[in-house]
Amino acid sequence: MPDSNAEHTRLANVHPPGWDNPPAKDKYHLVVIGGGTAGLVTAAIAAGLGATTALLERHWMGGDCLNVGCVPSKAFIRSARAWHAAATAQERFGGPAVAGQRDFAAVVRRMQRIRSAMSVVDSAERFRDLGVDVFFGQARFSDRETVTIEGRNLRFRRAVIATGTRPAVPAIPGLAEAGYLTNETIFSVTEVPRRLVVIGGGPIGSELAQAFARFGSTVTVLERGERILGNDDPEAAGIVAAALVRDGVRLLTAVSIRSVERRQSIIVHLSRGGRTEELEADAILVASGRTPNVEDLGLDAAGVEHDQTKVITDDRLRTSNHRVYAAGDITGLAPFTHVADAHARMVVQNALFFGRKKASRLVIPWCTYTHPELAHVGMKWEALKAAGDEFSPVTIPLHEVDRARLDGDDEGFLRVHLREGSDEIVAATLVGNHAGDIAGQFSMAITHGLGLSAIGATIFPYPTVAEVIRKSADTWRKRKLTPRVQSLFRLFFRVVR
Ligand SMILES: Cc1cc2nc3c(=O)[nH]c(=O)nc-3n(C[C@H](O)[C@H](O)[C@H](O)COP(=O)(O)OP(=O)(O)OC[C@H]3O[C@@H](n4cnc5c(N)ncnc54)[C@H](O)[C@@H]3O)c2cc1C
Repeated sequence: MPDSNAEHTRLANVHPPGWDNPPAKDKYHLVVIGGGTAGLVTAAIAAGLGATTALLERHWMGGDCLNVGCVPSKAFIRSARAWHAAATAQERFGGPAVAGQRDFAAVVRRMQRIRSAMSVVDSAERFRDLGVDVFFGQARFSDRETVTIEGRNLRFRRAVIATGTRPAVPAIPGLAEAGYLTNETIFSVTEVPRRLVVIGGGPIGSELAQAFARFGSTVTVLERGERILGNDDPEAAGIVAAALVRDGVRLLTAVSIRSVERRQSIIVHLSRGGRTEELEADAILVASGRTPNVEDLGLDAAGVEHDQTKVITDDRLRTSNHRVYAAGDITGLAPFTHVADAHARMVVQNALFFGRKKASRLVIPWCTYTHPELAHVGMKWEALKAAGDEFSPVTIPLHEVDRARLDGDDEGFLRVHLREGSDEIVAATLVGNHAGDIAGQFSMAITHGLGLSAIGATIFPYPTVAEVIRKSADTWRKRKLTPRVQSLFRLFFRVVR
């Protein structure tokens, strides 16, 4: 049974029943369309600075992250990790062997309670108290300086499009008829599907595949590329792939799905390597990309250019209508909550205060929360590969880090890419426990121009996985010790007796 109280509280926060839209002001300094992370942060900052601000949301305040994205997925992942730790405790840590009841409904209730408690921060009421005019309904530009919602015309000096994305559903014959789950529905399931097929081996597909395998599903991931997590360092992605396989996930890559049909169960017809195959499943999770919410927005009336993947912006996030900006996933730049947050801060400065902040200057970390986690920051792997010898990597295997060994999580590595001949960090990849937290430290170093020598001069607490950062600096320093410098040291110690 779901926690109906928690759900009731969340819904009362994110879309209060019977909410009265306020009367429209004469003209707003800022109208924000979309109440996900990008829209919420934009509206809160603008209102806090005294701008008259309207926030327009058609469904749930908090958008994907709170309701059907980061928050429920990470709650599931945490439970799955606990189930896995319990199941492997005897073999890995000397016991106790756990033979208790598996209660997936309790996992769902835990997630719902956490999500509900967190929804207060994104609630319509809180935003009204911050001085934001909150409107529910489908928002649409009616001309270059007006947005219409539920019969009200909101004129603006500036507007921000923060309408995000939704799951892209591939055109596979029979899929719609057979039925499928997406991130919008998977967190409402009340039972673990016995056999789950996941379409897409990106971050969302990989995270949920592992979580459901740990909850007891027989999971198969169907990936059309040659490998899962195709945007990441292949060696790092390979370690995650091996972990998924160990958890019982069947990974099928270079797959083409021919059709899907529903008989007693769901049958997926696929081909790979010139051979055809049939898979039986009880549920399909589609996690194969995102589609921007650009329809029914009146973008043509507003003179805002867009294509099938995004609203088009310049580097300052301004659209072809210079009164209108875009922020978050709708820009097609980097689909992460922390980027939506960073865009929001930029947009307020650029739109309202003649700021000249550039999106291309942002140092963006990301993390896939599998076990082990895979995190990256800085120049992307494809660009690093294309640059060849321009950057030299320093790699530290995690089994050289005491804490990783003590935790029994020493599979993985840190790879720091440096500009050749200097200690300037251009990127870092980490696969291992706490990778996301460590990526944050590299993000800070790159943002503030701290090189590896500054990091080497920093004391890290022992024993922590973050010590791997200092180890990379030590390795880099040793590498600088050329034979000539070594012989000079030898000479010095011969003289000083
Ligand atoms: C399963 C999953 C897990 C994820 N995990 C992570 C994670 O761990 N870390 C991370 O950084 N990111 C994660 N993400 C990505 C993250 O959720 C998004 O990057 C983030 O939500 C983007 O925020 P946004 O404000 O741009 O868009 P959204 O959150 O999509 O918000 C857009 C809002 O606009 C509203 N809207 C759209 N059109 C209109 C209209 N015409 N009128 C009024 N309102 C409209 C929508 O209803 C929605 O509420 C995850 C995503 C998914 C799906």
